[in-house]
Amino acid sequence: MSETREFKTESKRLLDLMINSIYTNKEIFLRELISNASDAIDKYHYLSLQDETLPRRNDYEINLKLDKDLNTITIKDNGIGMTYDELINALGTIAKSGSAEFIEKLKEIQKNKEEGKEDAEMPSDIDIIGQFGVGFYSAFMVAKKVEVRTRSLYDTKGYLFTSTGEETYTVDEIEKDDSGTEITLYLREKTDEYDYTQFTEEWTIKNLVKKYSDYVRYPITMLVTESVPVEGKKDKYEDKVVLKTLNTMTPIWKKNKNDVTDEEYNKFYQEKYYDYRDPLLHILLNVEGKVNYTALLYIPGAAPYNLYSEKYEKGLQLYSKGVFIVDKCKELLPDYLRFVKGLVDSPDLSLNISRELLQKSQEITDIATNIEKKIISRLQNLQENDFDKYLDFFKNFGVNIKFGVYDDFGMKKDMLKDLLIYDTVNSEKMISLKEYVKNMKEDQKEIYYASAKTKEAVLAMPQMDLLKKKEYDVLILHDDVDEFVINILEEYDGHKFKSVNQGDLDLLDKEEEKKIKDLNKEKKPLLDALKDALNGEVDEVRISKRLTNSAVCLVSGDGVSFEMEKVLHQMPNVNENIKANKILELNSNHEVFKAIDEAYDKNPDSIKDYAELLYNQALIIEGFKIKDPLRFSELMCDLMIKSNK
Ligand code: ADP
Repeated sequence: MSETREFKTESKRLLDLMINSIYTNKEIFLRELISNASDAIDKYHYLSLQDETLPRRNDYEINLKLDKDLNTITIKDNGIGMTYDELINALGTIAKSGSAEFIEKLKEIQKNKEEGKEDAEMPSDIDIIGQFGVGFYSAFMVAKKVEVRTRSLYDTKGYLFTSTGEETYTVDEIEKDDSGTEITLYLREKTDEYDYTQFTEEWTIKNLVKKYSDYVRYPITMLVTESVPVEGKKDKYEDKVVLKTLNTMTPIWKKNKNDVTDEEYNKFYQEKYYDYRDPLLHILLNVEGKVNYTALLYIPGAAPYNLYSEKYEKGLQLYSKGVFIVDKCKELLPDYLRFVKGLVDSPDLSLNISRELLQKSQEITDIATNIEKKIISRLQNLQENDFDKYLDFFKNFGVNIKFGVYDDFGMKKDMLKDLLIYDTVNSEKMISLKEYVKNMKEDQKEIYYASAKTKEAVLAMPQMDLLKKKEYDVLILHDDVDEFVINILEEYDGHKFKSVNQGDLDLLDKEEEKKIKDLNKEKKPLLDALKDALNGEVDEVRISKRLTNSAVCLVSGDGVSFEMEKVLHQMPNVNENIKANKILELNSNHEVFKAIDEAYDKNPDSIKDYAELLYNQALIIEGFKIKDPLRFSELMCDLMIKSNK
């Protein structure tokens, strides 16, 4: 019996596309066929568990055979096989959702082309092949003829399906001893563009199996030529052909945790992610729930050199039952966790899932949310139980956590705030906000911070006078992003954040408070004269509530801080007019204040030079540039000369 049949219309279109594809990723045909074979064995196994009458087998195998002379590759499985009807339905038609959608997309593109619509958003034919697992038909990307020999578990007869990928295919009845399917691809001739004959090379096939199908649960075997020592003859080798299993089968993430050592997890990381260092830690998740999956995640020992470049692609690898789907599934990681490496394996994802579908897939969103939570809780745990290691982590990736806090208008700040740690004035090591609050003085209400490169610099700040006296601790902010983070956080555990050089410190008791208020009133003419002398450089001159030792300081109003002004002005396209309000504060107990006060009484005009001197000093302390250094220097010299007369 030999019968010739026509492919269904959609199948024809898909075939046509496959045959004429110049798609470079043609090699995925092997992944697709191996995955089909693996599914067929799955089905056999499943059925044999249900049905006592079916022969049990323990010799499941996917065998690959290469023939250079015939230019063929054969993929053979001992799975469930296909009946005549199944063969016609499965290979003569495209019924499954992935392909149907693929065809829809194709039609759309074709239509747009016909109508001459140019649409930059629209992918080309070639783009979309890569986005879909296209199953059996992908064989035609590399083959000019395909033969499928199959016998169903429930049939005594076998069938041979033959097609050159044109309009028709033929089906013949054949003898076949065993159930299962054997697919032979007659590869195309080598062309200038593409070497189809590479798929008869042992080396190529070994690599492809490693790349795409390493964790398929059944042995993928192939006859391999090996050089082996000749017995009894030293240093003599001969070629021997042996049947080898090419795949690892049980992936490390599917093994029982207790059977795998840390070294093995680390080695896997190094090999897979090309890092010569050990990872900082790994996380293995086995989740059974709405979506079942296993995830193996790594936090690298150090940030990869290109982590912050545009070229760096975040994401986790995605597998379905050990079959590789995509390399960098970016939907699985939030931006701030871009440094995390690893993979997710879920039987609930179909191989045919496209990149576009991935983005919308609820399964992926669920997995991503859960993974994020797990990573954070693991880091929290590390902070509490192995602080040195956590410090290591924070030095490498703390910036990312900070970014996570202020990204998206602080959407995740509550989740992440406890991961932040800071250097502080009173503490030898970095501490969390929780610890800061725990250590707060009895009368202390707010959390103080100062932006500076070092602890010494903070301690030297005139604004610290009173805080030092009260022994309040102060967070030291080193990074550009720190103030933005603090701004987004607003408060921690009911305590507001307060910059030591911003706004009003509110640290005095009522009596002292009143004294300064009165003094501000009394000395208003002097303070106003100083302000006028500075020609709008400062918004206010006032008697300070925070200075005890130093003569002057500069503080900002409640909006933009000095640090933010500096950071913003370094960025491109930021309005130069964004400026912190500058307030010049004077220490009324300082000799300098008394001297100015007297000078003003004697001669109000003499105040101009003093104003400039005081303001420039305050600028220097604050790390700003002074406008006219030469004039500043002249004024200083004059002053020294005068004081000696
Ligand atoms: P998919 O595997 O995604 O369903 P394919 O085009 O790869 O799509 O295969 C279509 C159908 O052909 C499969 O669903 C299966 O029923 C059948 N099939 C393909 N390969 C095999 C095989 N090796 N053994 C048994 N059935 C197979």
